[in-house]
Amino acid sequence: MASTPQAIRGMHDILPQHMPYWHTLERVVRDTLAAYGYQEIRMPLVEKTELFKRSIGEVTDIVEKEMYTFTDRNGDSLTLRPEGTAGCVRAAIEHGLLHNQVQRLWYQGPMFRHERPQKGRYRQFHQIGVETFGLPGADIDAELILISRRIWQRLGLLPHVRLELNTLGSPQARQRYRQELVDYLQAHRDRLDGDSLRRLHSNPLRILDSKHPETQAVVAEAPLLIDHLDDASREHFEHLRELLDDNAVTYRINPRLVRGLDYYQKTVFEWITDRLGAQGTVCAGGRFDGLVAQLGGRATPASGFAMGMERLVAMMEDIGTSCDDERPHAYLVMVGEAAQRAGLQLAEQLRDALPGLKLLGNANGGSFKAQMKRADRSGARWALLLGEDELAARRISIKHLREQREQESLTQDELPDYLGKQL
Ligand code: ATP
Ligand code: MG
Repeated sequence: MASTPQAIRGMHDILPQHMPYWHTLERVVRDTLAAYGYQEIRMPLVEKTELFKRSIGEVTDIVEKEMYTFTDRNGDSLTLRPEGTAGCVRAAIEHGLLHNQVQRLWYQGPMFRHERPQKGRYRQFHQIGVETFGLPGADIDAELILISRRIWQRLGLLPHVRLELNTLGSPQARQRYRQELVDYLQAHRDRLDGDSLRRLHSNPLRILDSKHPETQAVVAEAPLLIDHLDDASREHFEHLRELLDDNAVTYRINPRLVRGLDYYQKTVFEWITDRLGAQGTVCAGGRFDGLVAQLGGRATPASGFAMGMERLVAMMEDIGTSCDDERPHAYLVMVGEAAQRAGLQLAEQLRDALPGLKLLGNANGGSFKAQMKRADRSGARWALLLGEDELAARRISIKHLREQREQESLTQDELPDYLGKQL
């Protein structure tokens, strides 16, 4: 028996009924970023595998076990992008966007990670990423946090998210801390889980992030990076806190907050919600001053964040965020062959006169009753009725589908004005 085709596990169709939430999210993000002067950039979905290894880090979950990597017909190793920062930095270097210039960029699109699919965790998911280049100060870290807060506020999500903040210090400070952490964890190695043992030498900071209860208990007593900061990082962090306080941003310092990507230093932050179960981080970011040079560009300070669109949409649906109304305004009912012919032209004239009008024309005939049913199901406010009588009189009847109101009759010339006033 022939089986019907199915989507790849962890990769989802986004069906029309969910689109108003996606469009609303995208519109709010686009408008908010425009209000801060950010410019959009679009990168390819595929990059050389090497790029991700060099940026995200060889011993990270993403590079070790989550990438969709394949050899193309030329024998090159390519990877579906698991995140956007690496490609964005690559593009900025390649096109000379960083020469004596500041850049404030954003992008949006699908990312791919071979993770265990579960609620809020998919193999193809979508991110909106925001990256700044050439700006070393805490002021830009604050701006990024203010942008994200404004997005939550405009989406009605602000009461449901909280901000966690940490600093990872300079790479040198981190290196010194790393040794102290390893020494401490070594002394408690019998209580660490297998994953953490494996990371003890390759990526010990990641152990701070472990979800394993016994490991967490060990970590709770571990020395803190925040106590080992270099002066410059401490000042940067203190200034960021002042700026956030000035702008009444509430946050919690989480000294164990680390990110799963190696390129972060100094500021890191996450926006977290309790409304989504285990996958509660909806936005994560920080400073990555070393990455541009690491990828062959001239040393350039950089800072950014990425948000998970599926998780934000799930929150919007859960909370009932009010969305752009995408239902048609009007449904054109045309009964009889002559009315169907004339109606097609009338519909075109209406769309000429009212470019904002969303008009759904009945197709494939049907009785008056059948067409009225379709009109109702379409969600339209008005059914525009064109039957033989209307046709003969060059009139149109308007039935109000969402309010208790008498049916009205207008000449066809009056119609654009009548509808236009109510859009
Ligand atoms: P997590 O701790 O949830 O695995 P991460 O540290 O891997 O997240 P980032 O790489 O910083 O996440 O990605 C930024 C955001 O993208 C996350 O906060 C999350 O909202 C979203 N995200 C990451 N991975 C996935 C995924 N597999 N499915 C859906 N959303 C994701
Ligand atoms: Mg992850």
